Amino acid sequence: MLRSTLLAAARSTAFRAAVESGPFDALVGRFVAGTTLDEAVAVARRITADRLVTVDHLGEDTTDRAQADANVAAYRALLHRLGDEGLADRVEVSVKLSAFGQRLPRDGEKIALESARQVCEAAAGVGTTVTVDMEDHTTTDATLAAVGDLRVDFPWAGAVLQSQLRRTEGDCRDLAGPGSRVRLCKGAYDEPESVAFRRAGEVDRSYVRCLGVLMAGQGLPMVATHDPRLVAIAQHLAQRAGRSTRDYELQMLYGVRPRAQSELAAEGQRVRVYLPYGTEWFGYFMRRLAERPANLAFFARSLVTR
Ligand code: FAD
Repeated sequence: MLRSTLLAAARSTAFRAAVESGPFDALVGRFVAGTTLDEAVAVARRITADRLVTVDHLGEDTTDRAQADANVAAYRALLHRLGDEGLADRVEVSVKLSAFGQRLPRDGEKIALESARQVCEAAAGVGTTVTVDMEDHTTTDATLAAVGDLRVDFPWAGAVLQSQLRRTEGDCRDLAGPGSRVRLCKGAYDEPESVAFRRAGEVDRSYVRCLGVLMAGQGLPMVATHDPRLVAIAQHLAQRAGRSTRDYELQMLYGVRPRAQSELAAEGQRVRVYLPYGTEWFGYFMRRLAERPANLAFFARSLVTR
């Protein structure tokens, strides 16, 4: 209920204006590396001391072609910088097709795919990879089709699947082949019962079934969750499938359970941190608030003191 309300508020322009008029303060900074490329690179460098990173240049639901092109340019600059700084072997990028114009009324899917292709070319040029984030269920088919197209030229292009969707176990089977990279998460969007499990227990059980398929498959499972029980189950299933700690990744968000991230890395796990930066932090930030009621109390206090 609270989650649905927050995610609905995230779509309100007036609410967005009120929140963004405040400073980029410590609460936003807990989840977002900063607003500039320099800030993101500095944080990524620090994290790579013991973990891997995937950097997300924030932006989504772009309805303007110029903005979509600016987002592509930002990724190219980011990738060149990762190459120049010698970070490309430990840092990849995550992209959202809606930031590249997927929702543009004319040729949106085509424009977004061409943009993602340009980002993949830039990534290949510096020797790193790209993972395509998954957004709400209305885009799942189109996004998976785009990843399929990208994988023809860039076999390392990663997909994301969300265990809250009823279809996902089947998608895991389709994507568990050789060379695939699949990030499995619970799903951050408020989805209808017709397509999604709505109860936490059902989402978790689906997550375990999906993990079973991916771990038994031939690709690289990327286990994106902060849920300690699911992390333990992933480790167990990996072992049972004969995978070493090099043969799957544990992934968590910047600012969430950082101590656990470092502890897992110290135990020899391959841990990757999802690191967002940029001025368009509102939608991402609201999804993080919606995931944990305790975050909301901090947020409410920070609005009052602004
Ligand atoms: P939960 O049951 O939500 O959380 C388990 C525990 O983790 C909580 O009890 C709490 O201790 C901690 N925790 C979780 N979230 C927070 C938070 N925001 N603040 C503080 N503590 C928290 N979703 C998509 O829909 N598409 C994507 O492409 C996508 N990419 C992701 C990439 C990565 C690397 C990760 C880690 C998540 C991604 N997500 C994505 C978000 C994901 O779908 C979930 O919304 C989010 O991870 C919370 O689910 P959870 O598995 O951590 O479990």
